[in-house]
Amino acid sequence: MNKNVRKAIIAGNWKMNKTRPEAKTLLEELKPLVADVKGVEIVACVPFTNLETALAVTAGTNIKVGAENCHFEKSGAFTGEISADMLAEMGVEYVVLGHSERRQYFGETDETVNKRTKAALAAGLKPIVCVGELLWERECDITEEVIARQIKLDLFGISAEDAKKCTIAYEPVWAIGTGKTATAEQAEEVCAFIRAQLEKKYDKATADSMTIQYGGSMNAKNAEELVKKPNVDGGLIGGASLKAPDFTAIIKAAEAN
Ligand code: PEP
Repeated sequence: MNKNVRKAIIAGNWKMNKTRPEAKTLLEELKPLVADVKGVEIVACVPFTNLETALAVTAGTNIKVGAENCHFEKSGAFTGEISADMLAEMGVEYVVLGHSERRQYFGETDETVNKRTKAALAAGLKPIVCVGELLWERECDITEEVIARQIKLDLFGISAEDAKKCTIAYEPVWAIGTGKTATAEQAEEVCAFIRAQLEKKYDKATADSMTIQYGGSMNAKNAEELVKKPNVDGGLIGGASLKAPDFTAIIKAAEAN
């Protein structure tokens, strides 16, 4: 397994945080801290209201901008929703899909995650598709079944060529925003399992080329141990992405590993 064949991606998921002036301040602080970073794709996934600000502040830098969701239809009577085309037209590059908070609070299912992933790909966006088990599912020893099912359903009907444009974020639900990080061994075990599922579904070259992130209370202290693992190609970071020095430390850990 050669980590050099794929891109390390550290993406911040700001969730429902930051007004426009606050977003500008955070990104202005981050820019010089990460300006010299090489070999790591840096992404800020921000609320819809901050996209324009984020795109303007990061123009010409090594920080890419992502959204936190998109709808699966191209347009129409879907009050409150944003389409993939709307994001792509703005210059947004990435989009987080199937985050556990969307699944938990907004009725997102594997079927809608699959439809959103297809819509995002059709619009030219790079989806970050989130998968992960609940604590109860881990305790019942069905983590692998849950993950295998999510990979199958979320990527249903997606070609190998399109899958290569996707990042998979392994986010054990019990570790998100709880301060309880998976151990590096647990993260590696599931990320390796995800890669094996991708190989089964596609082929080895496709699986080896796809970025698989860990997400769940990753922070400046534990990042290095996690990203050192052979199948952990970066992270999806919630809380710690809201502080420029902490997010930078995670990015630098990925750069060194
Ligand atoms: C997330 O929102 O994807 C996440 C991993 O959050 P946190 O880092 O705060 O656990």
